[in-house]
Amino acid sequence: MADEDGSAYNGHIEALREKEYPMLKDDNIYLDHAGTTLYAKSLVDEFAADMTTNLFGNPHSASSSSQSSTARIDDVRVQVLQLLNADPTEFDVVFVANATAGIKLVAEALRSAPGGFSFMYHQTSHTSLVGVRQESRASSCIDTETVQNLVDGAPLPDEIASAGAPLLFGYPAQSNMDGARLPLDWSHKLRRRNDITPLGFYTLLDAAAYVTTSPLDLGDQKSAPDFTVLSFNKIFGFPDLGALVVRKDAMAVFQHRKYFGGGTVDMVVCAGEQWHAPKSQSLHESLEDGTLPIHSIVALGIALGVHRRLFGTMADISTHTSYLAQRLHDKLDGMRHGNGRRVGKIYSPAVKHVAGSVVSGPIVTFNLRDEGGAWISLTEFEKTAVLKGFHIRTGGLCNPGGVAAALDLKPYEMKRNFSSGFRCGDDNDVLGGKPTGTIRVSLGAMSTVSDVDRFVAFIYEFYRSSDKSTFNQARGETRSTTAADLVVANITVFPIKSCGGFHIPEGQPWEVKPEGLAWDREWCLLHLGTSQALNQKRYPRMALLRPCIDFEKGVLEVSYIGEIPKHLPSKITVPLSSNPAYFESCDTKWRTSRVCGEEIVACAYTSATINAYFSEILEVPCILARFPSGGQGQSMRRVKAQLQHHQAGYHKTKRRVPGAFPPAIDTPPDSDSEVDQRRMLLSNESPLLAINTASLRALNTEIRKQGGKGVSADVFRANIVVDSSGQEDDLLAYTEDHWSSLQIGNHRFQMLGSCRRCHMVCIHQDTAVKSEEPFATLSKTRRFDGKVFFGTHMCYAAAANEAGALAQVPTIRIGDKVSVDC
Ligand SMILES: *Cc1c(COP(=O)(O)O)cnc(C)c1O
Repeated sequence: MADEDGSAYNGHIEALREKEYPMLKDDNIYLDHAGTTLYAKSLVDEFAADMTTNLFGNPHSASSSSQSSTARIDDVRVQVLQLLNADPTEFDVVFVANATAGIKLVAEALRSAPGGFSFMYHQTSHTSLVGVRQESRASSCIDTETVQNLVDGAPLPDEIASAGAPLLFGYPAQSNMDGARLPLDWSHKLRRRNDITPLGFYTLLDAAAYVTTSPLDLGDQKSAPDFTVLSFNKIFGFPDLGALVVRKDAMAVFQHRKYFGGGTVDMVVCAGEQWHAPKSQSLHESLEDGTLPIHSIVALGIALGVHRRLFGTMADISTHTSYLAQRLHDKLDGMRHGNGRRVGKIYSPAVKHVAGSVVSGPIVTFNLRDEGGAWISLTEFEKTAVLKGFHIRTGGLCNPGGVAAALDLKPYEMKRNFSSGFRCGDDNDVLGGKPTGTIRVSLGAMSTVSDVDRFVAFIYEFYRSSDKSTFNQARGETRSTTAADLVVANITVFPIKSCGGFHIPEGQPWEVKPEGLAWDREWCLLHLGTSQALNQKRYPRMALLRPCIDFEKGVLEVSYIGEIPKHLPSKITVPLSSNPAYFESCDTKWRTSRVCGEEIVACAYTSATINAYFSEILEVPCILARFPSGGQGQSMRRVKAQLQHHQAGYHKTKRRVPGAFPPAIDTPPDSDSEVDQRRMLLSNESPLLAINTASLRALNTEIRKQGGKGVSADVFRANIVVDSSGQEDDLLAYTEDHWSSLQIGNHRFQMLGSCRRCHMVCIHQDTAVKSEEPFATLSKTRRFDGKVFFGTHMCYAAAANEAGALAQVPTIRIGDKVSVDC
């Protein structure tokens, strides 16, 4: 069916995609098939029809509904073996929740054997396989060369040999990290080395990644692995079910398993004597504890049929996906910046097929570099990819050994990264000049040439620079700020984190505190289950919740400018006073919660009216909480903003603390007053955020050049908008990168560094509708060190004339003159 250049088969898939994968409309480009692939509409339809026409009961009773379940399960078990070309007299299938559960079942049995077991695993094992080592008496992580040496007659590693226990060797047929394939004949060849482990040498093949797009043939039981695990959702998208396939010759391993459950015993005596008779007819009966996932197994039977009908054989899928992967690999590998440097550093094997046989999986794992050679931050990449509709995996990819080897991370570096706050999915993903994870594109049966080409075009558009110079110095150069007449055009506070802003009326002086503008980000909404502060990125409608501060009534009044459920009040009010004695009806309770990954303690409101208002409007169970200023410990937060490389003054102020471990990222405050200056409430990084309208106009010009629509200042959610009334725009745009301090009216403010942006700036603040801009253009024109910036963080420093009333209650107002120090 599949042909040399793949075009006919690709045409077939293109045609089928329309009808079978309607969820791919809306420009979704799904490239995470190694995470889970997509299920076909026919599968879901046929499953629904089967479920509604047949009656399925709990297996093993006499009723006809029970009998149909039992019969169906027996059939599907055989079909699974047929998929693997495995003879039912030589192999048994044990249904498990997922591949991981299959691995655990093997580990659990071996652990219970007298004397336990030792474990060797290949370096590129999935985390779920690595974890087996915790159950073993001795374990060793080995690379391909060591396995090859063992095959050729080398002795076992010392720690394994001295344990003198049965030995299990686990490895993936295909690495989920980079698609590299390992020899399938290792099981066979290692089994011949019983000489070195007289107590038994067992092999566990993790086929979860391999079988997604390739045929696995267990036809010859002598050479097959003893245990093979896989996950069906990775092949068919649905059902969420896995299997452990056991070679019957190795069955004895399970006789030591201790646990039994409903379904795995024939008789249990409890009173007086403690006796039980395990089920013994077949292996799967003795291992499938509890009620079988009947409906998932029914779905699996349908999935097997639909898949074959839609795609042909696994060999066809393998040819198609390897053709696509080769195309992606070659295009990425060939892409160069204008100055000749490579755009991508690829970790996956370069060759996908040799003489018609597929030698590595349809996965391309890589990192991106800018024209100066700096690594592009993964989080940054992910933000743009999400915006453009790509579904992709980044980070450690659940493959600790594989990623460490690809990125050349030593154990000490991984521990250092961990201790400096790096976690999977964190923002600090380039540490010590090395990336801490990778980008993985993985293809599946329903991927097409157009998916690949659109991804390549995306990389070209956003990450390739046509600049011919070797390093783009110009962008980081200091520009002098002319003495233009700048004024404060707008002041906004956001009383509830991530909700709409309250614009300070013209003429009204507004207090500035060390933590920021008065009443800014003092409240937040917490998810009832996770206690995480909600954000607009996830819940765009938060933008339409409009808090208003009413000093006359002493309340914060919140309304909603979208459509409000009828039974809810149009507004709710919360007292401004934080002293509970003044508002009996408004009880609060201290509650540990998380804001931007940081643990804090905030005061949660218990009022059902208040919490229902937010929960029902946003359609997420949440509660309002307050984080008043002046707190201590976990009721206090510190500023995180810092000067960036592209900013003037970066090298001047960056003080390194010699010998610090992990290396100091920010300079610690010098004095108590500096500590106080560096406090903030619930904003992400700093007390105050300012934007410069000259920069906004420059950005909008760029957006329009690309055919887009300019954006309003609102999307940046700044506290202070500084304006020059359009004079000298060219000279003033982006000068804020290099300001060191500002004087606004009678007060001085210290700049704390550029503001890093994410796609939250794409949410229209009056409609909650998301679009591509301005992030798409920002990520092309305002990316430094692989991160995207717009606007500047700052904090209050001091009154310009130190003494007197001014310093006691500092205020600013619209129209205040702004002067800049560079
Ligand atoms: C996905 C995967 C697993 C884990 O599978 P689960 O179904 O999540 O348990 C294990 N190994 C490899 C190689 C995988 O790709």
